Amino acid sequence: MEDNNLIKFAYYLDDWEFETGNKKVLKKEAEEVTTTEYLAEMKGHIFCPECSAPLFKSPENKEFDTNGRKAFFAHGRKYSPDCNLRVKKAEGKRYGSEELAKKAIEDEELVIVKGFMKAKPVPPKIDNPQEYQGDPVEDVNGRLADVPIGRHNGESFSLPSKITTVRGLCRNFNKNIYKYFHLPGRKNAIQLKDLLIDIKTVQNADVVPRLYFAKVKSSFNCGPTPQNIRQIMFEYPRGEYVDFCLKAIDLSSREHGIDDNSKGKVVIMYGTVTESGIGLCIEGIGWGEFAVLAEKYIELL
Ligand SMILES: [Zn+2]
Repeated sequence: MEDNNLIKFAYYLDDWEFETGNKKVLKKEAEEVTTTEYLAEMKGHIFCPECSAPLFKSPENKEFDTNGRKAFFAHGRKYSPDCNLRVKKAEGKRYGSEELAKKAIEDEELVIVKGFMKAKPVPPKIDNPQEYQGDPVEDVNGRLADVPIGRHNGESFSLPSKITTVRGLCRNFNKNIYKYFHLPGRKNAIQLKDLLIDIKTVQNADVVPRLYFAKVKSSFNCGPTPQNIRQIMFEYPRGEYVDFCLKAIDLSSREHGIDDNSKGKVVIMYGTVTESGIGLCIEGIGWGEFAVLAEKYIELL
């Protein structure tokens, strides 16, 4: 989302504080100001018309920023209440040279994702397969990929890539969430925390594959065999679309820990959003494209 002009006007009211103020008073007494009506003396006294959190004008004293975009109001960093007018400003990471980007990969600060595994990898061949107790391989090295993350005009570097799994991302999630990931087809590397989209905010189909998270409401196998599709219904606010679900092979779902009794689990998935009847869904998902997030990490979302 790159629309910085979501907030059409700010509430301006002196002697009102977000932490202690009564929101009804703000709504009743504040003056509505647009970016063009904004005056320097209003600094520190403008608030969001939806969530009432403090706003600032950017740039503060000009009508246009250095990129020629019209000035806009944005939420301050101090408070982060849920707000539909809040823009997640995902800062893309750029590198001054190919060597620096390679170093960032070695230091595990940057991951170039060539793709997510579609099929479950076959365990390594050993004499006695019973001995193999490890988890399935979660990522394998891909080939060098041209990645446009150079500092100078998005110059491309040739960097080692990985074919990975969402399950791998969910392991050590507390560390992965701060790493920069370059997803297939993207123009920049973004921190995982800024790549994850709450499906509750999704109002439309989307042909671009993205990373989503959602909480399971219910789940059931649509047919009699493990090869049938299991429908995983998520908590989703009824709007233009009535529900949101993930459709995955039942066997694969259960291998990921999703069965009939999975209410409350949080699922992370990578895919496109399509219409499904009067709802939305992510379907045709591969083995490596979804996972359940461990409970201890949910608060990091
Ligand atoms: Zn707000």
